[in-house]
Amino acid sequence: MTILSNNQQEIAERIDAGHADEVWRDWKWHVRHAITDISTFERLLGVSFEDEERRQLEETLERFPMRITPYYLSLIDTNDLWNDPIFMQSFPSPAELQVEPDDMEDPLAEDADHPAPCITHRYPDRVLFLVSNVCAMYCRHCTRKRKVGDVDYIPSEAEVIESLDYIRENPQIRDVLLSGGDPLMLPDDRLDWVLTELDDIEHVEVVRIGTRIPVTLPYRVTEDLTDMLARHHPLWVNTHFNHPAEITDSSEKALARLADAGIPLGNQTVLLAGVNDCPRIMKTLVHKLVKNRVRPYYLYQCDLSEGLAHFRTPVSKGIEIIENLIGHTSGFAVPTYVIDAPGGGGKIPVMPQYIISWATNRVVLRNFEGVITTYREPDSYEPVWCDRKCANCDLYLKLDGADESKAVGIAKLLSGEDPTTALVPEHTERFERRNGC
Ligand SMILES: *Cc1c(COP(=O)(O)O)cnc(C)c1O
Repeated sequence: MTILSNNQQEIAERIDAGHADEVWRDWKWHVRHAITDISTFERLLGVSFEDEERRQLEETLERFPMRITPYYLSLIDTNDLWNDPIFMQSFPSPAELQVEPDDMEDPLAEDADHPAPCITHRYPDRVLFLVSNVCAMYCRHCTRKRKVGDVDYIPSEAEVIESLDYIRENPQIRDVLLSGGDPLMLPDDRLDWVLTELDDIEHVEVVRIGTRIPVTLPYRVTEDLTDMLARHHPLWVNTHFNHPAEITDSSEKALARLADAGIPLGNQTVLLAGVNDCPRIMKTLVHKLVKNRVRPYYLYQCDLSEGLAHFRTPVSKGIEIIENLIGHTSGFAVPTYVIDAPGGGGKIPVMPQYIISWATNRVVLRNFEGVITTYREPDSYEPVWCDRKCANCDLYLKLDGADESKAVGIAKLLSGEDPTTALVPEHTERFERRNGC
């Protein structure tokens, strides 16, 4: 006999009279009965919208469809519907149809950095591998909103094989990030196959799964699933909790199963206006996460995807949140705040300022309390002259394959191994003039 909350009991009875206790923990039941229209939403929660509201909502759904699992629906607080963080993340808002001047369909240019059917290759040593287009729920703030509501689609075996071949042929790829859609919406045997193929590629050192399943459909984390995942170590899982109200008994159980299977857990939160743009909410969230063995990993500034304007905060809000965490709580409970660069530049970390000033041998810093302090740098620092011949080195640098001549970006400017002294944007007027003569 399972114990359901009043909400859960009522919702289950309204969907499947007489069977509430049997069906509630069956994840496939939740997928079958996901709520995709306004009337069902009203009927299951006992709320009703006015005619004009309903017309606007229907119009929104034509562009951006809705899908809510009965489980996630049961977390909605109907006493304060329009301010409820669960409602705001799952239920359409007519504001989604407002497009701002800088909004883009694909702000991260994922469709451009796309060398194989399911691969986005942006960073030197790691790739995004989109293994499933299916999600248990459609988050209203999805960065891939352009794709939400495309017909549910699992890439064909041929497309997966072609993508695996790309990974196999590129030995610099040491980290593969399975994403989607949600990889945990795949059948166990399909996911097992992809993970087994990746295990067989020698240069792939770690695999990560990005999933919102522990938040929106925790019953999917079955013992069969975690037994299978545990056969593919080293495997990491990153999940996506945005608000403390999402951490329920059921999701805690799912997280415990994953952690007990030896999987290191991380969490990526999106900063969302009206949902979690508050230092106190965020501190509660990170504390609940670490209690459940989940390390807060990233806090994302909301992307410039079309349909997300009403969720965006200024960057200052994110910095205020990080200011309220660093020093005030455990270091491992503080996520890195990042802006995913529009145009495909990748994630850029953003922080409050801690270095206040700097002279020849002194750095002036401030701490979280406002104490201003100085750090005295050494008068003479003799850099070790390094000929990169680690085999002859008495120090600790005996690294296989260390090769600083391959440094990229700012690290290249710092390395001194390369004649490059400046990184210059292409096609500026000044440089076009130079080329002209
Ligand atoms: C976020 C992301 C990764 C992984 O980045 P990490 O900083 O290593 O977590 C890889 N590829 C793409 C395209 C990404 O957006």
